[in-house]
Amino acid sequence: MHIPENDLMVQIFTYGILSVIWIHLGAIVWSNYKNLNKMEQQHHVPDELQGTSYHPEAFGLARLYAYQTLTFRNKKTIVEGVILTCVILTNGIGVLWDYSERTVALIKPYLPLKKSTSWPWLGIFFFTLCYTILERVILYLPELEEFEIEKYFGFSRASRKKLTKSFIKVSILKVILWPVYLTAFSWGLQKLSKLIEDKSWTVLSLMGFSYWLLFPTLIVVVILANSKQVQPLPEGGLKTRIDSLADKVNFPKDCIFVLHSTKAKNHPNAFHLKFLNFQRLIIFESLIEFKDTSNPETLHIQGKGLSDPQVEAVIAHELGHYHLSHGFWGVTYLQLKTLLSYLLTMWLIQYSVFYNVIGISTYGNNSYLIPGLIAADLFVVQYTSKFLDFLFAIFQRYTETQADKYAVRLGYGHTLESALVKLTMDNYIFPVDDAFYTVINCTHPSMITRMRNIRKCMISN
Ligand SMILES: [Zn+2]
Repeated sequence: MHIPENDLMVQIFTYGILSVIWIHLGAIVWSNYKNLNKMEQQHHVPDELQGTSYHPEAFGLARLYAYQTLTFRNKKTIVEGVILTCVILTNGIGVLWDYSERTVALIKPYLPLKKSTSWPWLGIFFFTLCYTILERVILYLPELEEFEIEKYFGFSRASRKKLTKSFIKVSILKVILWPVYLTAFSWGLQKLSKLIEDKSWTVLSLMGFSYWLLFPTLIVVVILANSKQVQPLPEGGLKTRIDSLADKVNFPKDCIFVLHSTKAKNHPNAFHLKFLNFQRLIIFESLIEFKDTSNPETLHIQGKGLSDPQVEAVIAHELGHYHLSHGFWGVTYLQLKTLLSYLLTMWLIQYSVFYNVIGISTYGNNSYLIPGLIAADLFVVQYTSKFLDFLFAIFQRYTETQADKYAVRLGYGHTLESALVKLTMDNYIFPVDDAFYTVINCTHPSMITRMRNIRKCMISN
């Protein structure tokens, strides 16, 4: 039995982590509860939507949809919090790690590797075990439930077959390729810090920069540049409109693309991304009005989406983000957050106390970094990252208002407003949000707030 070096530190650390998990859980559940309450008090369509094309029947459906998604999210957050708490209190990571060590030791004679080391196999086995349990068992069930809700309300344009295909693809990435990558990463980390012991901090920072810092953005860039789901706008009226708008505000037309998403949760969206010389303005296919009547399976999304002038107004909003350099701040934030997460991970996995907290008794063994990486992410980094997101969302909500104003100044005020009304209806967005709910959960102001701001801006122009 391993005796922790410093019981008090271990206890402080353990209860610190547990408090963070439960504060997060409490904030999410309380905000959802407040929003459900706010919805119950709103008996009729808000005044701002009176006299617009908003259908009262969408209001009832929005209430039902919000009720289902908020209840689902509550359940998911509580289950996740309880599972993580159990993992900490039962030393779950340590148990999985022991199991992995014993299993790999057992099958080692049959594996093609040098007798002295079990590094790669142990790493791959442990990471695969963790991600299979985490991603494909614990997270898969809520994924299915969410798909059912989204399908029921007609948001998913993907068939079950397409969804299964993408599920298998993601599984291969997460359960096979990701463990191989992580093992290689922790192996390199171990080698390098041994090699230059006194300069390990410099080495770690440099590795962090090359492996981690550029990584998330690069993945997005590579996907956007190569995916078959990302296609240029088809020739026609919409393309002509958007091209002439792009010309008017000096935006390169050949950077505008449509994304054909197969994701279960496929709400209309558009975004602009700029990284070095690479630039894309992406329009989700679901943003554009669905006119194809040939397929009976797609009856439920007939007439959903925006008309060509409305899509143009949304693009004007996106070009606002482009001209006000919001994309630059978005990418910078993502990079900084990744760097901070990386440094935090590196700082945590140096301390024996941390291993005692997660129930690892093999600290000092050269493979201890492997469970350290997972535990750091699961118990600490994901929460600091959520907290940073929460702070950044304050800036994001501000940029949304700025981008709306930009579109209004280009003369799209009324069309943008009608686009928002259509989006509110199509997506069963409940038009009113509780203020605390918005602060905790949203990167955009509520629809009503945006409409009020657009109207104010139109009057002052
Ligand atoms: Zn925006």
